[in-house]
Amino acid sequence: MIKQRIAELKSASGTHSPSVATMLKEIPEMKINVDACFLSNPYATDLFIQHLEKDLILTNKLRDVLEFYPPQNHEVAKSVSSILNISPSNIFVGNGAIEIIQAVMHRFAGKKVCVIIPTFSSYYEFVQPSTEVVYYRLQKENDYQVDVKAFASFVQKEKPDTVIVINPNNPNGGYIPFSDLQWLLSEINFVSTVILDESFIHFAYEDAAYSYINNQSLIAAHDNIIIIKSMSKDFGVAGLRAGYAIMSETKVNALLSNGYLWNVSGLADYFFKLYGDKQFLEKYHEVRKKYIQHTNTFFQNLATLQGIKMLPSKANFALVEIINGKTSFDFYIDMLVNDNVYVRDCSDKIGLDGDYVRIAARSDEENTIIINAIVNATNI
Ligand SMILES: *Cc1c(COP(=O)(O)O)cnc(C)c1O
Repeated sequence: MIKQRIAELKSASGTHSPSVATMLKEIPEMKINVDACFLSNPYATDLFIQHLEKDLILTNKLRDVLEFYPPQNHEVAKSVSSILNISPSNIFVGNGAIEIIQAVMHRFAGKKVCVIIPTFSSYYEFVQPSTEVVYYRLQKENDYQVDVKAFASFVQKEKPDTVIVINPNNPNGGYIPFSDLQWLLSEINFVSTVILDESFIHFAYEDAAYSYINNQSLIAAHDNIIIIKSMSKDFGVAGLRAGYAIMSETKVNALLSNGYLWNVSGLADYFFKLYGDKQFLEKYHEVRKKYIQHTNTFFQNLATLQGIKMLPSKANFALVEIINGKTSFDFYIDMLVNDNVYVRDCSDKIGLDGDYVRIAARSDEENTIIINAIVNATNI
């Protein structure tokens, strides 16, 4: 039975969901029409592919990218540096943000790490066995938003070596406004390492024009911060494996002395050069804003549906509580089997109290399919 096989596949992939490709390979009779599990801007993927074709494929430069060694880590850092206006000596590039999380957690976590839950599981899974992890639980009554005052008191009491803040948070999209974040960072400035994961920051905004949230001033004010940025979600290029981190020069040098020489591929190097290109960024801004607008429409529609409760989000996905008595797993199966829409069942996430699924916003047409599938799944 298909439900049983999906359950097995899901448990075999641990705390990350099986990809659509894996699902289709293992269960060939299954159909997936919309992937609302994966969190990326599809319009940005289109934009990247247009550039890739024009710059590398049609010019036959792809051969060079594949045949030769890519530039070394500190060279790739220069492309990122130009756009951020931060010295390349403060930038470490990674084979996806996940490699940076691994590197940083192994090297700088210290004896005690403080993680806010629910969270992106790698932060507590990748610590050395000798590192203690203390969990700060977000409250359901507070829609799993961070109360910065309560959190600062917790950190002051626990005195960890490392604190991790993901903003906006995954899996719920909760957002700490810039002024609150500034206040929090100064309250916990005594902590050796504060990791700020901004993998979804391009989807957040504080004004009507959806301007970027610029956190450069935070780095200048606190040399204990490590900002980690995945390019997978906002640029829609997860297969490329590209991410970077901003941290003190001492920390960058400590990591580079351990290796990571050619950890970024030639294709990712090409991506980082585009990221440093003003004309590309202008076009990227357009698709970023278009996607935020479509996401907002999607959220407004989600909020009106019966049988579910959507939590406030400033990311490109929403955490949805199933409140019609169905389990999140049954809801997830019904969405997948009846309407071929793949969402993230969050029953394995620690720190969630209830039945939750995470649903990503996609293109406008796909969002309509997702909404209809939810209506069907809540009516069974
Ligand atoms: C997806 C994700 C990452 C990892 O991103 P990659 O660059 O694809 O490795 C890191 N942090 C958070 C919060 C994420 O959701």
